[in-house]
Amino acid sequence: MSHYTTPRPEQVRAARSLLGWSQTDLATKAGVAISTIADFERGQRIPVPNNALAIRQVLESVGIRFTETAVSHGFELTFMTERGISTLAITFTAEASASILELTSIFGEVDPAKISFKFIQCVTPELRHKVTDFVDRYQKNAPHLFRLRKLVTDMSDGEFFLLLQAPPTSSAEEFRYGEVLRRLNHPQDQLLDEHNQVFGQLLELYDIFTPRTDKRLDIGNSRKADRICRFCGGTTKTKARFDKEAHAIPAALGSKYLKLADECDTCNQYFGEEIEPTLVELLNIQRVFLGIEARSGSPTVKFPSGSMFRNQEGDEMMVVVSEKISQDASGALTAQLGRGKPIIPQNFYRALSKIALSVIPEEELPALAKTAHWVRYGEAGDKPLPNIATAVVMLPPEPSAQITLYLRKAPHPTLPHVVCEFRLGCYMYVYALPFSENDESNLIGFFEEEDFKQTFRHYGFVPSWRQQDYSASKETQVIQSITLQPRNTSSGKPAA
Ligand SMILES: [Zn+2]
Repeated sequence: MSHYTTPRPEQVRAARSLLGWSQTDLATKAGVAISTIADFERGQRIPVPNNALAIRQVLESVGIRFTETAVSHGFELTFMTERGISTLAITFTAEASASILELTSIFGEVDPAKISFKFIQCVTPELRHKVTDFVDRYQKNAPHLFRLRKLVTDMSDGEFFLLLQAPPTSSAEEFRYGEVLRRLNHPQDQLLDEHNQVFGQLLELYDIFTPRTDKRLDIGNSRKADRICRFCGGTTKTKARFDKEAHAIPAALGSKYLKLADECDTCNQYFGEEIEPTLVELLNIQRVFLGIEARSGSPTVKFPSGSMFRNQEGDEMMVVVSEKISQDASGALTAQLGRGKPIIPQNFYRALSKIALSVIPEEELPALAKTAHWVRYGEAGDKPLPNIATAVVMLPPEPSAQITLYLRKAPHPTLPHVVCEFRLGCYMYVYALPFSENDESNLIGFFEEEDFKQTFRHYGFVPSWRQQDYSASKETQVIQSITLQPRNTSSGKPAA
């Protein structure tokens, strides 16, 4: 069950009263008709998902928080010090709305329209005094504020810390923040060199972007009138509709919260019927390994010579049934599962590229017009596609598939404009977005180019990568087999 469904009528009324907004104010800011708000608050009509989304998004953007039963006004602040990361939810009721301004004035600035917190903070006797004073006055109603006091009393004068909008969502992001902190607090430290050797060049040449998947995140324009479909260019003026909720990563891969506003209903339907089934089909074995729930429960994968599923009772073991199981000298068991459903390899690449285009910052899109056209219409002439690099990596399991984008900051003759890292559990796919205006070469073997290896050094720590060609645009059948290694390490690998 998701925490983020449509807010209830009384919650929207309460949110407006916390903000002092009229129905007209809310309707204008959300880009919906006043009657939509009025009918909804009276309980006469439930808005279509996209209007509900716009309403919630605009309220959340000014600090409103919806819970199962209530609504409050506040912020989640994530503090990062050299000792670690802690997140503090600070919420306010209507009576205490003055205190939010007070807290903001300690850590940032208040402008009538907007509240902003400074990213880099420094402990001073004055800051410590203000925080202690604030906590003393509000702790009675919010006991967890003691953590805020402890945070500043544990640090020494002149120590820097960071105030983040949200906890870091990838190790690369956490590393980047950690590096900012180390630079601030230990300007002469030689230890930095080691980190710089691995990430230095990458951070110089690329911006790293990882959208969070553990909590609702809406990408794109909350106002319908401002939306331009990222794939077909449709707008409300050209009669494109934006009534359905578009998932950036298919829900079958465990992603619930990452949504794209700028995807029209026609494109949404096309992707759901034509492109995404290939991605889900090829990742089925991984889904069973990870126990990702599909809409209809835990997935079972059937093949002509066998099947895979999770045992629903007791131990939740993964079960492989096959007519052909063989064992080699090392003790590894291989189960032949036979041919899966026929798939079009290129659609796998298109589906992965669709995920990247769904989350990429808007300013990158003009250079990727050909890429978007290929993802949506499949026409790319007979240009070959870059290889996709795949590996099994030892990272903590996440309930949802994850996407990280590396966006090149300046022109370069061989490094790709956009490098994408898609991860489902321990299965990682690294691919470049093809057909970018900002790329000079066709990128076919980009992963094995010397410049790439020198820049993306962290991929060198993964013991084995496989290069796969997903260019084919004709249907093909993939023979699936599973190899179970002794000593509890297992891997499912599709063999072409
Ligand atoms: Zn469209």
